Amino acid sequence: MVPMRRFLWLVPVIVAPLVVLLVMQYQFLRKLEHATAAAERNTLRNSLEDVAREVEMSVSERVDRVLDVTSDVLAAPDALSAHVRAHGETPGVKTFFAARFNSCGPLLLDGHGGGKMVAADEAHAIDAALQTVTMLRKPVVRSHQPRTIDQRDPHNRIVVRPIADASGMVVGAAGVVFDEKLAQSVIEQMSQKILRKRLCDDYIVTRVRPEEYFSGSRADGGFLTRQLGVVFSDWRIGIRDNCATPEEMAASSFRINALWSGMVMLALAMAIGLAIHGAARQMRLSQMKSDFVSNVSHELRTPISSIRVFGEYMRLGRVKAPEKIREYGEYIETESRRLTQLINNILDFSRIESAEKKYRFADSDVTELVAETVSAFGVPLRERGFTITFEAPGTPLPPVSIDRDALGQAIVNLLDNAVKYSGERREIIVSVSSARDEVRIAIVDRGIGIAAREQKKIFDKFYRVASGLVHDVKGSGLGLAIVRHVVHAHRGHVEIRSEPGQGSTFTIVLPAPAAAGRSTELTKEFA
Ligand code: ADP
Repeated sequence: MVPMRRFLWLVPVIVAPLVVLLVMQYQFLRKLEHATAAAERNTLRNSLEDVAREVEMSVSERVDRVLDVTSDVLAAPDALSAHVRAHGETPGVKTFFAARFNSCGPLLLDGHGGGKMVAADEAHAIDAALQTVTMLRKPVVRSHQPRTIDQRDPHNRIVVRPIADASGMVVGAAGVVFDEKLAQSVIEQMSQKILRKRLCDDYIVTRVRPEEYFSGSRADGGFLTRQLGVVFSDWRIGIRDNCATPEEMAASSFRINALWSGMVMLALAMAIGLAIHGAARQMRLSQMKSDFVSNVSHELRTPISSIRVFGEYMRLGRVKAPEKIREYGEYIETESRRLTQLINNILDFSRIESAEKKYRFADSDVTELVAETVSAFGVPLRERGFTITFEAPGTPLPPVSIDRDALGQAIVNLLDNAVKYSGERREIIVSVSSARDEVRIAIVDRGIGIAAREQKKIFDKFYRVASGLVHDVKGSGLGLAIVRHVVHAHRGHVEIRSEPGQGSTFTIVLPAPAAAGRSTELTKEFA
């Protein structure tokens, strides 16, 4: 026998590299997790940079365009209104205003160039901004008229620009007032458009509160932020993925990768385990085969040499007493029968293995077959001190479709085992009974019994229980394998009830006559 224990030394040899591989894989995945988080952060940072630059440029350009007013236009309200209308709405701007120094007050226009009234705080912010330009009442180069950004009132941020006449003298000013909410929603809309081109919809860019800056966790905001230029220089805008922070995304990809790696490792370990199991099985089988060869040779050699010696004695007339002659004759007969049975088993087994075994089914009386087998088998045994009891069914059974030779051989094998493994209590009971749709042939002995863990294995070819009396009893390990094959061919099964030291009951269960139709089909299959 080749127990799996013989392969235990392989465990550290296989497990150690697997563990090293697992640790390396883990470290690699951890590094990958950090790299993924950093890459994701970079993507966010670059996207935010692009959005911020786009917003700044767009606001600057539009403001420059709408504030590019000549002194002539400044002097004509209609022309001014047309100018504002022509340059469309400027992002985030709620009011356009223009004033000449010698006029009474600024002209206030909405985004479409229409006149408008403003709230007191806005009017105050406009006046304050115009004051700054008034102080600049000196010649300027037209192309370099400086733009002033006034953020003193955060709710009314202003960009104002001096307007010079042809001589370069500043004669007035034009400006725009930004609305905070409008500006914020414009930033969000613009960023949506930009981001949709490169990222999925789950990203948002918005103005963020100070407590949300630089925060890694989404519960705290989770924004990557950047300061905004132009008019809103005290604002920070932030970007985040609404589904997960870079760290969360990296952690989730780590989990998925780790799961896959774990599964691959598990599959590898299982494949190695299976390979070892297969190798152990093969070795066990070849060990069993070599045991089989030595057992069979022994089983053949011993009776053959006894038969030769007894035959010689009788031929040379050395044995004269009639009872001795009968004893030797019986011995020769018994041993020859055993040899025939062994050879039959080997031949049957070889036919079964090569799928050449043919069955010839015919309706027969099972009780009669069992009774004949028991009586042929029982005569010599009784003289060896065995009691064999045959219990026939109360009422005769209807014929069953069976292969008499094959089933007879299976019963002989079971009887032979009952004899071999009976030990000191030499009592065998054979019974035939019938239940509703089955016929049961039971062979009971009071012998050494079989441990529960061995009961399935003993039907495997060459398998012999490696303990106790079995060492003293020779056998091929084929008997039960043949029994199982024959019974399965009859569409039946073998039941076993056994307890070590108490004995065993092997029961052949065959389909009853009610199912004989099926048996007829079997005739074709196995014939
Ligand atoms: P063998 O030629 O070894 O008897 P079998 O296939 O007939 O081969 O039986 C397989 C093994 O099952 C035997 O070696 C024995 O250990 C066990 N066995 C079979 N029948 C009995 C029984 N009636 N009592 C105890 N052990 C049995």
